[in-house]
Amino acid sequence: MDHGFFRVITSARFCELLRAFTPVDAQTLPLEDCLGRILAHDILSTDDIPALDRSCMDGYALRAADTFGASEGNPAYLELVQSAAIDEVVSRILGSGECMGIATGGSLPPGANAVLMVEHTQMLGDTTVEVRKTVTPGENVMLRGEDVSAGQVALPAGRRLRPQDVGLMAAIGCLSAKIYRLPRCGIISTGDELVPVESTPRPGQIRDVNSHTLACMARQAGASVRSFGLVPDRREALESALSRSLEESDVVFISGGSSIGTRDLTIEVLESFADSEILAHGVSISPGKPTILARVGGKPVLGLPGQVTSAQVVMLVFGLPLLEHLGGDSGAFDLARRVLRPARLGANLSSKPGREDYVRVRLEEQEGELVAMPRLGKSGLLRTMLDADGLICLPASLEGMRAGQKVDVWTF
Ligand code: AMP
Ligand code: MG
Repeated sequence: MDHGFFRVITSARFCELLRAFTPVDAQTLPLEDCLGRILAHDILSTDDIPALDRSCMDGYALRAADTFGASEGNPAYLELVQSAAIDEVVSRILGSGECMGIATGGSLPPGANAVLMVEHTQMLGDTTVEVRKTVTPGENVMLRGEDVSAGQVALPAGRRLRPQDVGLMAAIGCLSAKIYRLPRCGIISTGDELVPVESTPRPGQIRDVNSHTLACMARQAGASVRSFGLVPDRREALESALSRSLEESDVVFISGGSSIGTRDLTIEVLESFADSEILAHGVSISPGKPTILARVGGKPVLGLPGQVTSAQVVMLVFGLPLLEHLGGDSGAFDLARRVLRPARLGANLSSKPGREDYVRVRLEEQEGELVAMPRLGKSGLLRTMLDADGLICLPASLEGMRAGQKVDVWTF
């Protein structure tokens, strides 16, 4: 039986299809549990932060114009009218020729528009400050509302919250937020030849690798992962594993059986489900062409090639962004998110035009330069990924690259 791949599409189109799936629902979490999680709504600030103009330095609040032209050789002189405590809000308007002692974080009195660092001054007696530097309006001042102003979006929906984001939530008094729950990811490995890790394979059998690598990768992407076992190449077995897995997951990854051989049942089984649609069978990347995307009852099912390296590459290129997207992350498909390191290509590479190639490379330092050495090899072996520090992507338009060309290595 050879019906060939149908619906081979580009990786860009594949990502568009992934992006059309709806993210999971959200729950309310307290501030202290928000780190690393994805915000499900815009957080608006009800306050200006800072609430008032505040000093960045220990020094003197003053009118900048009073310091114009002042220098070490040509100081200006101001009258110290008072010193304010850090939490004191002074209402007296600061006049021309006056200054007020202020601490870092202290609020500026009305009339003042800059702060001069104490290091650039000298006290003369009790009330005269010698000014040895010119400051400009706004210098050393955190302006009211400069972090966020009342009514503005402090943090947008879809953001993965970092420590600094949680800090802003604290500053505006946001005690809890709606957070997407972790997407539940089901993993199924198929193949008559597979045995679990704890078994000793008979000749012809191999231990299941993909359940483990895919689970690790999904966990790194923030999913909660469950394995739905090793399934032999029998239709009923795959049907029942898939239906159980769909019930309890938001997305299912099936490794193996995604190609067009007689034992490759994934397509057939997916088609047999009610409310299912095959969105893609075949994607123009290498390794990873025999990849399937289906929608079953509104949920994505990704069929990955069984070859260990192909499965990992497909997971990196499509599986992880899908998980992040389902988890509500608005930047899931941004290529700018990939951590890239510039390097020189260490050897010539050829590539079939019309196909996007993901070449495993190892980074080496040669004469102070970073060189990306291709680690070519068979995608059924674990070795190329073990030796690699990252991937380089040869776009579909290229027929190859020459040694010495600049490349960006997408590091693991
Ligand atoms: P398939 O995509 O099912 O045709 O499998 C392609 C190759 O990958 C075969 O040599 C399989 O034995 C191997 N393979 C499939 N699934 C796994 C797995 N879970 N772990 C390790 N190798 C696998
Ligand atoms: Mg197989």
